[in-house]
Amino acid sequence: MRMVLMGPPGSGKGTRAHIISDLFDIPVVTTGDMLREAVRDETQYGKIAKDYMDRGDLVPDKIVNGIVRERMMKPDVHDGFILDGFPRSQTQADALDEILDDLGIELTHVLFVVLSDEVIIQRLSKRRSCPECGAVYHLESALPKQKDICDACGAQLIQRDDDKEEVIKHRLEVYRELTEPLLERYGNRGLIVETSGEVAMNELKAHLKALLG
Ligand code: ADP
Repeated sequence: MRMVLMGPPGSGKGTRAHIISDLFDIPVVTTGDMLREAVRDETQYGKIAKDYMDRGDLVPDKIVNGIVRERMMKPDVHDGFILDGFPRSQTQADALDEILDDLGIELTHVLFVVLSDEVIIQRLSKRRSCPECGAVYHLESALPKQKDICDACGAQLIQRDDDKEEVIKHRLEVYRELTEPLLERYGNRGLIVETSGEVAMNELKAHLKALLG
């Protein structure tokens, strides 16, 4: 399975990516996490990326395409992968086509997570994230066992700078303008599989297994 996960910010792509990764034993490649790591490590790319991310804008294609290309050349993705957060524009989709061409492989699925703007804003403004391992929590529906502490690794949870309400609205606009048009591109290739962003957490694994099985 060679999959792109698409859907608006906050639709639960990350959660789905990890479940699919376990089900099919394939790695997840998450551009948001890779960029946040670069920001944390204060790399040359990270320093440039930070301002774009804090505003909710896309990080320039040159940086993101470079990071993805480098990752995709590693042998562990050759037998399958889930791309989470990439591509997000036509230029990035062109870059992905080139990378896969060079590797002599093709996408098999584009999983599209459908969710309304109201639910997205509600979810993201109450989201808390682990800066160390990327686990996500929600102030109402998915509290950590100990307040503000990550169940998985014990780190202090944070609210991402881009999970503030104005930035969320901007991320949604960017998504509609630049990313959503990719649905047509992948639809034309017959790759799209739709799934609701509102499937309950405890049903998600069975749902995805049946859908992709
Ligand atoms: P979400 O999907 O919830 O918006 P992500 O963690 O995927 O969150 O992305 C957070 C931010 O990282 C984006 O708003 C953007 O600034 C940057 N980013 C992630 N992936 C890309 C990408 N493919 N191209 C450009 N910027 C990206």
